[in-house]
Amino acid sequence: MMGLMMHRPLLVSEILDYAAEVHPLASVVSRTVEGDLHRTDYPTLRKRAVQLSFALEKLGIRMGDRVATLAWNGFRHLELYYGISGIGAVCHTINPRLSAEQLIYIAGHAQDRLIFADLTFVPALEKLKDHLPSDLRYVIMTDRAHMPENSLDALCYEELLEGQDDDRQWPEFPEDTAASLCYTSGTTGEPKGALYTHRSNVLHSLQAGVSGFVVDMGEDARILPVVPLFHVNAWGLPYLAPMIGADLVFPGSALDGDSLYDLIESEGVTSAWGVPTIWQGLQDAIDKRGGKPPSLRQIVVGGSAAPRAMIERFEKMGIRVNHAWGMTEMSPIGSHGFLPWQIADAPFEERMARKAMQGRRAYGVDFKIVDDSGKRQPHDGKSKGELYVRGNNVVSGYFDNEAATEKAMDAEGWFGTGDVASIRPDGYLQLHDRAKDLIKSGGEWISSIDLENIAAAHTKVASAAVIAVSHPKWDERPLLVVVARDSDDLPTLEELRDLIGESMASWQLPDDLVFVEAMPLTATGKISKLTLRESLSDYVHP
Ligand code: ADP
Repeated sequence: MMGLMMHRPLLVSEILDYAAEVHPLASVVSRTVEGDLHRTDYPTLRKRAVQLSFALEKLGIRMGDRVATLAWNGFRHLELYYGISGIGAVCHTINPRLSAEQLIYIAGHAQDRLIFADLTFVPALEKLKDHLPSDLRYVIMTDRAHMPENSLDALCYEELLEGQDDDRQWPEFPEDTAASLCYTSGTTGEPKGALYTHRSNVLHSLQAGVSGFVVDMGEDARILPVVPLFHVNAWGLPYLAPMIGADLVFPGSALDGDSLYDLIESEGVTSAWGVPTIWQGLQDAIDKRGGKPPSLRQIVVGGSAAPRAMIERFEKMGIRVNHAWGMTEMSPIGSHGFLPWQIADAPFEERMARKAMQGRRAYGVDFKIVDDSGKRQPHDGKSKGELYVRGNNVVSGYFDNEAATEKAMDAEGWFGTGDVASIRPDGYLQLHDRAKDLIKSGGEWISSIDLENIAAAHTKVASAAVIAVSHPKWDERPLLVVVARDSDDLPTLEELRDLIGESMASWQLPDDLVFVEAMPLTATGKISKLTLRESLSDYVHP
């Protein structure tokens, strides 16, 4: 048909071009590995990303080549996002907290050509070198003065950039070109790659923008991505922040409560994003200092269920919580917890009950829940089933992995999340569990998330996890694992059962309780139920 709109490819390079021109006053602050606080802006970042892109081309990097990063959150990592993808190569962010075995698997599977590493990771790479692809080249993300002695024959980041042209028209290519690659952290078997396209990254940003994250953040957004750039593109912030002209404040490697508090306070951060386990430290620091950093207005929390007690604690401190759900395979945002404005003044209890759910689907993401036979279940808030998703930001399969692809996709082309959920008529998603974490007791399901949520609200509990343990009569029963606030004042099983019994049926209550000093964490900072199950494998039910 004649007279339709133009069709311009959606490319991520366009986001940085836009930010450099339209948001030149916005800043990017990084606490660096070398120790200082570095400040830059989008025009400078663009120049350096361009220099990097020329350097990459001189090193032989071409469209489709995978270039890896092993780095904390900081300005050079952000430059890599744009310098690599800008020329059609694939920015492959590797999670440095993975085991050596997983790292070797991932770098080999992705066939990375180059790896850019922060100083911190040089010793680890030296140890792994003989197991990594033999033609892999190394670049250390620092300047000449800080270059360490190393056995990697490594190049120096700042030297690579030196003398390169700092302006270019980015190459244009189809929007379905791969832009970035991220492997799931492998809590459920071998890591699997989600390969994002330029189109999906741009659309993901636009969709996050209209899903309330931005409105809730306020106009003067200064965002602290505690979520790492190696965890699903820091939930899209490297694209969303420049698009909306928000400042970025990168915390580097110091993620304890006091360091975060200091950075938020000194940099006037308004919005901080991260997984639940990171926030307890910040909440304790806030209590210790008698109040929140004045600028902090919003916390975005996701990656695992945020306990209601944690949400309430933040809200009582005067910080709004946006509880989101997503997956590596979804770029990652699937739903958001921005409250409908019509109930913004609803009673506290009602608002908190909603915030403890996983929110409403983001625009552009479709949900369906199905039973074991694949039959769709109504969105009535009661029917439970596996959640399947579809959308422009959802993988159509795994990178170079047919077996995993076949397992994940259904006949209608939807992606199976492995999460068991219900959806309310008003669109609210409630996640009950990961299918493999559900406790199947006497043929009935018990949600570990529900139990954890309530147990975590007890004043003597710092954090709680529930795992299934085998039982001769009921097949499985829930076992409550607790980190106590004070080891001299432990909560009793009866106290916790009384609390849980106020809102759950008696057959759902845990029959036993074990204490651990600290929760084992996954590579993305979530409580590792796999490790808990392994370490309690000798547990015998009383
Ligand atoms: P991995 O599978 O390696 O942990 P992801 O970070 O992609 O990698 O994890 C996605 C999973 O995390 C989801 O399928 C879901 O089980 C869980 N999850 C994410 N956000 C939430 C949330 N807000 N509430 C409950 N579970 C969540």
